Amino acid sequence: MPPVSLLPRYDQQNGWLEILGPQPEPTVLTGDLVVDHVVIGAGYGGLAVARRLAELDPAAEIALVEADRIGNNAAGRCSGFIIDHAHNIRSKGFKEDTENAKRQIALNRAGIDWLEEIVTANGIDCDWQRVGKTHAAGGEKGARVLQGFAESLDAIDEQYETLDAEQLKAKFGTGFYQYGIHCPHSVIAQPAQLAIGLAESLPENVRVFENSTVSDFELGPPHVLRTERGTLTTPSLVIAANGFGEGFGLFKNRLLPLITWASMTRPMTADEVEALGGEDDYGIIPAHPAGTTVRRRPDNRILIRNQYTFSRTSDARAGMAKVVKVHEKSFRNRYPMLPDLEFEYSWGGALSLSRNGAGVCGKIGDGLWSTMAYQGVGMAKGTISGKFLAEHMMGEDDPLMDLVLGGPKPSRNFPDPFNRWGVAINARWRRWQAGIEE
Ligand SMILES: Cc1cc2nc3c(=O)[nH]c(=O)nc-3n(C[C@H](O)[C@H](O)[C@H](O)COP(=O)(O)OP(=O)(O)OC[C@H]3O[C@@H](n4cnc5c(N)ncnc54)[C@H](O)[C@@H]3O)c2cc1C
Repeated sequence: MPPVSLLPRYDQQNGWLEILGPQPEPTVLTGDLVVDHVVIGAGYGGLAVARRLAELDPAAEIALVEADRIGNNAAGRCSGFIIDHAHNIRSKGFKEDTENAKRQIALNRAGIDWLEEIVTANGIDCDWQRVGKTHAAGGEKGARVLQGFAESLDAIDEQYETLDAEQLKAKFGTGFYQYGIHCPHSVIAQPAQLAIGLAESLPENVRVFENSTVSDFELGPPHVLRTERGTLTTPSLVIAANGFGEGFGLFKNRLLPLITWASMTRPMTADEVEALGGEDDYGIIPAHPAGTTVRRRPDNRILIRNQYTFSRTSDARAGMAKVVKVHEKSFRNRYPMLPDLEFEYSWGGALSLSRNGAGVCGKIGDGLWSTMAYQGVGMAKGTISGKFLAEHMMGEDDPLMDLVLGGPKPSRNFPDPFNRWGVAINARWRRWQAGIEE
């Protein structure tokens, strides 16, 4: 049986998961199981496919198989912005294709609404807040980018509010930001708690196996998957492995395996909370795509995220020291009134992107489907892609489905080492362009 050539490996440094304390023992796959559908990967994509398949086909037996603990993957390591706008909204060509932009937003909003329905119906405790997102700039160059962003929003009749330096200081406590745009429709949440809650509330016909890495596979149908202590046999397989998708031989040299990094402080003391001021739960999106994302949490911790690193192995355990130095600088620039506030956790998470921005969603073989590569906004996009993929598998249709199914394929990468060099040079160029926004 051919081995999976790229296996996920995680550290225990993901702050979102660690602050939740010890988790119940996982169910590990043991023995040989034959089921109607198998979904590999319990991120937002895989969780959504498994849920929707189970809803549409309650008699089917479904196995969702995950290499590590749910919540320790990229789904639980991300910054928790469930975003309605596509990331390319700041791009130059954006205004030229307003109809498509409106449909993309409707697509992401359908993902947010479905997630909200699930969170509400199941009482998932994940600090779900529909407070929107604020795009904020610390310097003039960033402010100009945001002015272009405002023009794009005008072109598609999107609601937003502009904020000046004084309003931003009142909201965020820090005086770092000079110009902002607040968009009201996004959600912020605790991502590890959300992913765990989604898994715990799956319909009864989904069996969830954690700490069960698929190490070998034979494509059929029937497809046979081997883990350390068991096998799964199925006529219908969905691969939702994100940064590790190439391990199954899929989309070879078409996905860009990247790591992005976050750090979270210890909780602030009462004196630190007073020194900072501002609101106690917010999310800031940088004016520049290579800038720094910030979250302040109701538990008085602050999180920052920045930098992208190319990683052929999607392994986020290496290279941390260099990354944390940059996090330190970004944090001190924004929060000089908190000189003793230290990071308690720093971590990375693997993503897959594509050069042309195309995702993967649809049938890729006989009884074989895949969904992944959401260009870094997988909370909403991954959820709705997974839902639509399951509906497509069961013969259902939706007017927005064509946006995730049957689009262009991820374009081919340059051969290595040019691809690796290209990504590294691009990341450095973007960091330079981001300037003070990093
Ligand atoms: C630091 C950081 C910040 C981010 N911030 C945001 C944000 O604010 N908003 C947003 O929308 N997105 C954000 N993202 C991106 C987001 O995390 C991803 O888009 C999302 O998690 C993708 O979902 P997924 O289901 O495709 O992938 P994943 O969450 O990576 O799930 C794929 C799963 O497949 C499993 N898997 C892979 N191979 C195997 C195997 N052989 N056997 C078993 N299981 C396997 C993996 O362990 C993993 O759990 C961020 C990412 C990072 C790292």
